[in-house]
Amino acid sequence: MTIRNAMTVDVEDYFQVQAFVPVIPRSTWDGFAPRVDANVNRILDRFAAAGVHATFFTLGWVAERHPGMIRRIVTEGHELASHGYGHALVHTLDAAQFRADVRRARQLLEDAGGVAVTGYRAPTFSLGARTPWAFKVLEEEGYRYSSSTYPIRHDLYGEPDAPRFPYRPANTTIIELPLTTVPIGGRNFPFAGGGYFRLLPYRLFRGGLARLNRRERRPGIFYFHPWEIDPDQPRVRGASRMARFRHYLNLDAMSGRLDRLLRDFAWDRVDAVFADLLATPAPTGLAEAAA
Ligand SMILES: [Zn+2]
Repeated sequence: MTIRNAMTVDVEDYFQVQAFVPVIPRSTWDGFAPRVDANVNRILDRFAAAGVHATFFTLGWVAERHPGMIRRIVTEGHELASHGYGHALVHTLDAAQFRADVRRARQLLEDAGGVAVTGYRAPTFSLGARTPWAFKVLEEEGYRYSSSTYPIRHDLYGEPDAPRFPYRPANTTIIELPLTTVPIGGRNFPFAGGGYFRLLPYRLFRGGLARLNRRERRPGIFYFHPWEIDPDQPRVRGASRMARFRHYLNLDAMSGRLDRLLRDFAWDRVDAVFADLLATPAPTGLAEAAA
């Protein structure tokens, strides 16, 4: 049987990404001309053409300003989920601030979309061992699952020793669905999208995901951002060389690669791919582990 993988989009605008925080204070966000709605519309057109349903982890800040875009996501059969309100890193917040952020985001998304929102993805995968209280807060705020940990080594995020596959963080009913890695030579390599998808040759990426499906019989979780299919976005001045390299690398190749990826694998929304795990309050056979 063909394994369905989870297609996900982290809905935020180009000026909200973590790498640009040093040069774009969030107090200036409203001064930028938005591009996220046009880019999401292009993504929705592509998904419709490919017959793919996906999960859109959306910032509350974006939902507040683009309710029509939120309605289109829902109307076309995609899953609406939360990326928090203002892209604040979870490990920079205390539990009360985190609660306020995820509550506000969920409320705005549910109001705009008219559907229940139960999925969460932390900005820049900033949830995990440093924030052991966060899963409980998510549970108490009505979330069912999180897809926020990335078991790799990276300077900005990642927890190399975290579980590679779905698990239940200690003392909660939340299911954590880690971003996809593939072990090669005893090390976990990132195969979930983002900058790596634009950096690696497409065939290498496809090979890694195929290997996960075939050898480990596991679904992958892929993610990208609306600004990644927008090579004409305004260039951010003053950002570090590394930030610019990561952000602008191979943007013009992204749309074509995405189309190939949509064709080469079977895709669905997170709550469909992991429906069995998410159905029961305390799934049996699922390891309980501290994050
Ligand atoms: Zn993000």
